[in-house]
Amino acid sequence: MKKRIYIAYTGGTIGMKPSASGFVPVEGYLTDTIANMPDFYHDDMPDFEICEYSPLIDSANVSPDVWQTIAKDIHSRYDEFDGFIILHGTDTMSYTASALSFVFENLSKPIIITGSQIPLSQLRTDARINLLNSLYIVAHHPINEVCLFFNNYLFRGNRTTKQYADGFDAFVSPNHVPLLEAGIEIKKYNKLPNIVYSDDLVVHEIEVKSIAILHLFPGLNWQVLDNLLKSPLQALVILTYGVGNAQQDKQLLETLKRASERGVIIVNCSQCLKGAVNMKGYATGHALSEAGVISGGDMTTEAVIAKLYYLLSQSLPYEQLVTLFQTDLRGELG
Ligand code: ASP
Repeated sequence: MKKRIYIAYTGGTIGMKPSASGFVPVEGYLTDTIANMPDFYHDDMPDFEICEYSPLIDSANVSPDVWQTIAKDIHSRYDEFDGFIILHGTDTMSYTASALSFVFENLSKPIIITGSQIPLSQLRTDARINLLNSLYIVAHHPINEVCLFFNNYLFRGNRTTKQYADGFDAFVSPNHVPLLEAGIEIKKYNKLPNIVYSDDLVVHEIEVKSIAILHLFPGLNWQVLDNLLKSPLQALVILTYGVGNAQQDKQLLETLKRASERGVIIVNCSQCLKGAVNMKGYATGHALSEAGVISGGDMTTEAVIAKLYYLLSQSLPYEQLVTLFQTDLRGELG
């Protein structure tokens, strides 16, 4: 019996058509292109249904509303299909993968998000290989979580980040091994059993919240931080040096302390791609934790933003939110 897979096409390069002003998403174009590619109908491939969203968007336009739409859509088709593929632009793919990982609790079916750097209809496209492998893996090697497939690797979605603007190996998972590699064989890195939850799927709300990121650099004028904190911020992510260090500046520390005391969640995330924040490592990091800043651990910035949106959408008391933020909820934190 062939498995049935639901493909949600949200937009992105994968289904775009060349136009005078560059690639643009065009309704029906992806579905028609696939219909003319025999590989997708090979005996070993699952049956699939494509749902094209309207409007199709460039993923630069993704927002929590779009995550909510995708989540509701998958939820409404959850019992009908064995697995799900989300076709999405690469620019914000890691944000969407991270957000959906939090939105779906007790997920007992595989979801793979993929896309491409060159549209499916074009010569030298990477879309064909990304989509064929995603369909094959979701049907024959399911992993019941929100995954991201790109350039022959299946990653845990909330561990990924886009590293390469115009290369085929657009995504990396800096702090977590890939889940699978599609080589001559499909190689599984993680021998853990595929979890099927006895509790029903829960689909959580995720809404726009007031969050900002401040990237530290030598000589940053603290007036900028002051102004940022004058806005009605709920959370501030500071991108620090190395294991979570910042300049030991009295004004900075006092400003952060005042903000955290009035309930702004302040997260310390490293500018480094690999490794984890450790505020006990140096005095410069320790001073931040004394000012009420909490650790982002080894989470990607995308996962941090998505987790903040998710937790802030639950209207939790400050202490509980801070505890949950620093707890591994969906494999996003090492
Ligand atoms: N700008 C496109 C998008 O993210 C890029 C891509 O799909 O690769 O929708």
